[in-house]
Amino acid sequence: MRDSTRIIRSTLTPAIPGAPLHAGPVFASAFHVPGSPDGVPYTYARSHNPTYTVLEKTIAQIESGPGYRAQALVFASGMAAVAAVFGAILKPGDICVIPSNSYFTARVLMQEHFAKIGVEIRSAPTVNDAQGKLLEGAKLLWLETPSNPGMEICDIAALSEKAHAAGCLVAVDNTTATPLGQSPLALGADFSVVSDTKSMTGHGDLLLGHVATRDLEHRALIDQWRTLTGAVPGPMEAWLAERSLSTLPLRLERTCENAQAIAEFLSTRPEVEAVFYPGLPSHPAHELAKRQMKLFGPVVSFVLPTKAAAETFLSKAKLITDATSFGAVYTTAERRNRWGGDAIPDGFIRLSAGCEHIEDLLEDIAQALT
Ligand SMILES: *Cc1c(COP(=O)(O)O)cnc(C)c1O
Repeated sequence: MRDSTRIIRSTLTPAIPGAPLHAGPVFASAFHVPGSPDGVPYTYARSHNPTYTVLEKTIAQIESGPGYRAQALVFASGMAAVAAVFGAILKPGDICVIPSNSYFTARVLMQEHFAKIGVEIRSAPTVNDAQGKLLEGAKLLWLETPSNPGMEICDIAALSEKAHAAGCLVAVDNTTATPLGQSPLALGADFSVVSDTKSMTGHGDLLLGHVATRDLEHRALIDQWRTLTGAVPGPMEAWLAERSLSTLPLRLERTCENAQAIAEFLSTRPEVEAVFYPGLPSHPAHELAKRQMKLFGPVVSFVLPTKAAAETFLSKAKLITDATSFGAVYTTAERRNRWGGDAIPDGFIRLSAGCEHIEDLLEDIAQALT
């Protein structure tokens, strides 16, 4: 069965006569537990709740591939999922190899917290698999590809092989591509970590994250971390996410198509100094991206000459909402350096293509550039 069919069908409940097609949210912190709790699936919602289970089954379907079944655990946010892998795997004295250009908050968490409790950090850029040279003695290799916001690509399969040969685990922040667009577990990584706040749920109305793995021991470690730290989502968020996942294939295919067309259009414009999109043949790692990704993602980054040019573009564009985050059904963009923290020019814009009609988007982008 093809991915889109599998995902859409997996959001339905089993066909029991009279049962609803979809499970509603279960608002419960405590469950009936008479006597011994052994074998009782739900006791207290800081561990598990039926609404998380439904969502975890759907996400596990998306993360599974030929020859393996993934396990997924959902979290209150993408950062809660990132922190779970760092926290459950790394001990004082361990070495973690991170991308020097990864998602800013993950880098700050590693540097401001884990370094202080004795985790040694090594970092190198995503581009050219530079992190692969730092693996000796390392416990965890943390990858992000495409990187955010620079859209650099590294080779998940090659780096996983190298890391495993060095006795090192591999986690991929797969937020930008989503597990429908790229399968880190199929490419050999041990953990796929995703901010489901972005394209996975796609409506800009909730925070959510997940960790997926093929290994039951790793799953147990992440599960224990979640219960101990209480990093669970609310049932309402989990239910909204499950509802959103049934349209993931439609939304993602459309946003990626629009992103490709926008990237191609921007490449033809003299006002634009550079365009970064893995789907462009001019992207330095386009061949690798074609091998590794099923979809090139909704995010297009590009550079205008100055901060003022970028701000004028964003204020003149009527169909581009000036907001952070990405992966929603509506097109958004922002001048990324308004936050600081990334080594990028002042005129750098990160745009997330929505599901609007592409002709409307291109007309609007053209008038805003002129
Ligand atoms: C947004 C994002 C995160 C963090 O997710 P939240 O849901 O905001 O906590 C992590 N990694 C990447 C690449 C992201 O874009």
